[in-house]
Amino acid sequence: MPAHKLYFNSIHDHSTQNTLVMIETAKAQKTAMKEDSSVRSQMMQFNHEEVLFCNDNETGLKAIIAIHNTVLGPGLGGCRIWKYEQEQDALNDVLRLSRGMTYKASVAGLNLGGAKAVIIGDSRQIKNEALMRRFGRFVDDLGGKYITAEDVGSNSRDMEYIHMETRHVTGIPASMGGSGDPSPVTAYGVWLGMKAAAKERWGNDSLNGKKVTVQGTGNVGENLIKHLVDEGAKVYITDINKDKLKEVADKLKVEVVDSEKIFDLDVDIYAPCALGATLNTENINRLKCSVIAGAANNQLADEKVHGEMLMKKGILYAPDFVINAGGLINVYSEFLGNYSRERAITQADKIFNITAEIFHVSAKENIPTYLAANRLAEARIETIGKVKLNH
Ligand code: NAD
Repeated sequence: MPAHKLYFNSIHDHSTQNTLVMIETAKAQKTAMKEDSSVRSQMMQFNHEEVLFCNDNETGLKAIIAIHNTVLGPGLGGCRIWKYEQEQDALNDVLRLSRGMTYKASVAGLNLGGAKAVIIGDSRQIKNEALMRRFGRFVDDLGGKYITAEDVGSNSRDMEYIHMETRHVTGIPASMGGSGDPSPVTAYGVWLGMKAAAKERWGNDSLNGKKVTVQGTGNVGENLIKHLVDEGAKVYITDINKDKLKEVADKLKVEVVDSEKIFDLDVDIYAPCALGATLNTENINRLKCSVIAGAANNQLADEKVHGEMLMKKGILYAPDFVINAGGLINVYSEFLGNYSRERAITQADKIFNITAEIFHVSAKENIPTYLAANRLAEARIETIGKVKLNH
């Protein structure tokens, strides 16, 4: 049985040669016509360029690749493997995440667009060499418009399999010339963004003596805690994984706090490094901190509502996609060739000034920080888009 692809391309897509809907069988065509209105209307909401539905009965692969915007360069974004309850949930996720990548790359000053992929299924059950290589073939068919990488549920071993089928993959192991684990660079950028926030709030970027709650002691959280401890901050940590929590607490000599109580703690800084959407109405009402700066993606449950709520409450929010760009910067260095961690760190150093600039614009224009960051991203895409069109 041949694998099937369903393409949905935006009619505004400046880069694709594909026709509006390309399908392989009459049956698939019928289904596509039915799905077209809903998928397309979701694509139109944030102006996605292209969505590819991938299916392969042999390996059981069911994936969606969403390319949001390629004005600045090819769309780079991780491949998430997750047990979505329904295909619609997977589509929502991939559309939202791919858009986030466009903004992240733009603000970080990278020549990359935004894209993301999701593979539907429990990573512990569905993953194998054949499935990952089949996914790699789909990535290859896109001819470099989408470059994949690690994300939740996938790892550098999976990237190795994908690499057997396509060169449009990053995050392969360091032993193979790749960039390896991006978490230390992500944590470094988050730490710099937090320091920029400290400077804006307290007039000094030192975190010495500041009380910081870190939610999530995983790959990024643990590296961030090291920076904070080294600088003399008083760190409180929480995680639902009790073994990891104890390991980090023992190793770095920091205090464990109850997950339920973290939003009531009298601390200076809250660093979300676990899941997204922890900044909702209930939690924000409870928060006593002055600064929020962490690694988790999509921290604001509702960007507009909760971005404004934080501003009204006088809490300085360092936009997540700005300060957690270190991981993307790291794989970008690999994408450029001859990966160098030093080059990635030098690029990540810019996160301090970029974050400071966003705070400056937010204060000057009296707008929430998330909005200042979004406008910065959009302005670069517009300006560089015109440069490219004119030459
Ligand atoms: P990870 O899976 O290594 O760590 C996440 C940790 O959060 C785990 O230890 C998990 O047990 C814990 N956790 C989950 N739910 C929790 C809860 N409700 N309360 C407390 N702890 C909880 O992931 P990571 O690579 O450290 O990434 C952390 C966050 O940063 C994620 O949101 C990720 O999307 C984002 N991020 C990571 C990178 C990177 O380079 N790894 C880059 C950008 C953004």
